Order: sequence, then structure tokens, then C-alpha cells
Amino acid sequence: MAKQYETVIGLEVHIELSTKTKIFCGCSTAFGKEANTQVCPVCAGMPGALPVLNRQVLRSALAMGLALGCKVNQLCKFDRKNYFYPDNPQNYQISQLYLPICHDGALEIVGGFGKKQVRIHEMHMEEDAGKLIHDDWSDSSLADFNRSGVPLLEIVSEPDMRSAEEVTAYLEQLRKIAQYLGVSDCRLQEGSMRADVNLSVRELGSTEFGTRTEMKNLNSFKAIAHAIEGERERQIELLEEGKAVIQETRRWDDNKESSKPMRSKEDAKDYRYFPDPDLVPIRIPDAWIEEVRREQPEFAGQRAARYQQEYGFSAADAALLTEYKNLADIFEKAVQLAAPAKKAANWLTGETFRIARERGLALEKIALLPLDLVNFLAEVEKGNLNNQAAKKVFEAMLAENREPLVYMEEQQLRTVRDSGLLERIAQKVLEENPTAVKEFLDGKEKVFGFLVGNVMKEMRGKAAPDEVRAVLLEKLK
Ligand code: ADP
Ligand code: ZN
Ligand code: MG
Repeated sequence: MAKQYETVIGLEVHIELSTKTKIFCGCSTAFGKEANTQVCPVCAGMPGALPVLNRQVLRSALAMGLALGCKVNQLCKFDRKNYFYPDNPQNYQISQLYLPICHDGALEIVGGFGKKQVRIHEMHMEEDAGKLIHDDWSDSSLADFNRSGVPLLEIVSEPDMRSAEEVTAYLEQLRKIAQYLGVSDCRLQEGSMRADVNLSVRELGSTEFGTRTEMKNLNSFKAIAHAIEGERERQIELLEEGKAVIQETRRWDDNKESSKPMRSKEDAKDYRYFPDPDLVPIRIPDAWIEEVRREQPEFAGQRAARYQQEYGFSAADAALLTEYKNLADIFEKAVQLAAPAKKAANWLTGETFRIARERGLALEKIALLPLDLVNFLAEVEKGNLNNQAAKKVFEAMLAENREPLVYMEEQQLRTVRDSGLLERIAQKVLEENPTAVKEFLDGKEKVFGFLVGNVMKEMRGKAAPDEVRAVLLEKLK
């Protein structure tokens, strides 16, 4: 019988904090600005420039660590990780090795695999590097240091995951926590969340871990799933051939669906870590931890439970609605303004998710005004927008920031309630389609939909479907 293998995965996740300024200087962290316009001697790594820790970074790190059930190192320090790379002009990265701010936490994940705890080994603060832009045209590489010194949290899990589904659930859960805390938007595609996947395989039932590799360059859930599958197969093949897996860092290329070795795995000793002499050790008082703990928000899971209680939503509906904090916030404010809860929730999930997917909108960036949603729902409730028109208005609200009442008038989407006009059009449609009328009267009920459709078309989609049906039936009697 063929051997069976188990995949073992541990993740190193980097989260870019959304603080206004960088971790050790006052430069802005704003994304997408002209190259090297947000740089000072500190983040450009000039000799002699002195870093000072951004208080907000420490606070966000504490909040995240507590949310992950971590213990806090109340005496924590920064260390220098020494290496040369052109995007790192200091020739070292300020990070934490010996006394990271948080350690020994756990994150609960749920999915088709059931419920499980993924242990968090540690979480530390560090600075991001700059970016190299490789220009094939001029055959040169340029360095942009705007990102240099942007604060990062690195969260290191224990090797507790066993599949791509568990990895996806873990990352989604981290994203939700960070978004509810407001510490990061965690967008894989934009690099504000980056995951390095450490993976090994072992024979099913074995208690020893196999040799692992680390994969970098994964910027979508799809790429992560592909990389896990590809690397699992590569390692199994090696073992089956009696060869050894080499511990190394590999770069995944999602277009080629394969990975290539980047460098052999380096150890802490290769980096010559030592305590950064420019930064004082930090002592975190109990009172501060208590304050951060008190200020923790209601997280997605708690909110979902409350929605089930308060509005009688199913577990699945409540989970979907709380997936993105901004959408759940819009929901709450709309309900406070007397929107019907169930209807508000339906629009904020089904249609919203569909429109976002089709138009490529980031769900976490949707900023619908609660009052607009309330007004919109009232129009639907009053029967002023039929189903099709309502979808059109909602899409304009979401994707183009349009105000519903203005938009529906401008686009003439309001349901026409002119019974005289409807009567005349229904009459006309019946006269123009004698065959269909005969078929209907002969008992072929399917053609009724065809007649309704024709009346709707003549009314330019603005009639109330139930009225159209009633008028037609009356006339066909
Ligand atoms: P190092 O200090 O060499 O970087 P760590 O112990 O910090 O190694 O582990 C780095 C990451 O690799 C962690 O997320 C950990 O869970 C994961 N990991 C460690 N050993 C294995 C293994 N045998 N298989 C899969 N992942 C592993
Ligand atoms: Zn700076
Ligand atoms: Mg490590």
C-alpha cells in the first residue's frame, strides 16, 4: 500500500500597521506617494541618526497580542538583525529576537476541518524595508525608501496547521481581529499582510516532524493554496525517491505554479543579532495592559453571537455580516436609524459581496452612508423600486457613492403608479400577441410570463410586477 503523508504547516505573518507615521521617525506611512518623498535620515539609515519608538506601534502591538491571548513581556527590547541588501541602507533591520513583546498565545479557527486552536509562538515589532524597482528598460534597479521604517508586526505560529483550508482560516481570522482593532487593513494583494509558509511532510502517524522549507512571495489565498499543494507534492516525491528535503527558502511563482530555491535557510546566528544600543528597553506597566484590555472592541465572533440574539439571524448570516467590520458598523447605524434589520443585513451581504466581486471593490473599504441605506430600504419598502431597479440603485450607491433618492430620480427608476397607463399598455400587448393570448386561454400558463415581460418592457422596467400581473389577469378573464 502506498504511504500516506501528512502536511505540517507553520506561518510567519507580517502585518503592516496603519499608523500615521513610521515606527522610529515622524515620516508619513501614506502609500503610493512619489518615490523617496517620505524619507528622513532615520528611515534612510544615515549613520548617527537616532530612532525613537512610535508609541502607537507599541499600543497596537499590545492590543493585537492580547486579542491573540498572548503573554506580554513587560520588559521588552529591540535587537539588530544584521544583513546587507540594497533596500536596507542601515545594513540591519531593527526587530525583536530575545524579548519580543508577546508570546504564547492561540488563535481559534473554524471550518470544514472542525474547530481547532493554532498556537502562537510569539509576536514581535519590527521595521519594514524599502522597495527595489527593477527597470528592464534601463537595465538598472532603483530604490524607493518610502516603505522603509513602516511598522510591522510579525506573528509566528507553531507548526499546528495541516492543510490549505486551515491556513486560509487562520489568515482570515487574523485579518478580522486586526480590522476590528483598527490596527491594519490586512490586504494580501496590497502587501499589508504577508504570509511566509513553512511546510514539511511526514508519514501519517509519525510523531517526528520532517525537514521544512519556507515559501515566500505569496500574495493571494489562491497562491497560498497552490503553493501548499505544489510544495507538499515536491517533498513527497523527494521522500519517495529516498532523497532528503533540504531546509531552504523558496520563492513561489504562481504563474508557473512552481517554486525555486532562493537561499539556504539562515539561522539566527547568521544575522549576528544584538540588542539595539540606540533604543532603550521598554517597561510596560500593568496599568497600561489593563487599559488596552479594557478598550478592546467587540470582536467579530461576539458581534455575530449578539446579532443572532438580538435579530434572530442564523449563525451563517450573522457570521457573514460580521466578516468585515465596516459593513457590520453600517448595519448597526442603519438599524439605529430604524432600518429593518433583516433587510439591511441581506443587502449588506448578498448584493454587496456580489457587486464587490464583479466590480473589483475591496469589501473592507466600502463606506456606504447608513442614512443612504435607510432611505433606500424605505423606497424599496414603499414599492417605489422594483427588484431590478433596486439592484441598480444599490450598485450605484456602493460603487459610485451615489445618493439613492437623487440617483433614482435622475435615472427615472421610480416605479410608475399610473393605472391608466398600465391599462393601456396591457391592452396593447394583448392585442399585439393574439397567439400568446390564445395559448394562455387554452391552459398554457407558461406564456403568462412572456406577456408580463412585454408589459414590463413597454413600461421600461418601472412597473410594479404584482400590479402588472393583476391588470393582465383581469383583462384575460
Ligand atoms: P527559525 O528560528 O529557524 O526561523 P522557527 O522555529 O522560528 O524557526 O520556525 C519558523 C516557522 O516555521 C514557525 O512558524 C514554525 O511553526 C514553523 N516550523 C518549524 N518547524 C516546522 C516543521 N518541521 N514543519 C513545518 N513548519 C515548521
Ligand atoms: Zn523617516
Ligand atoms: Mg524564526
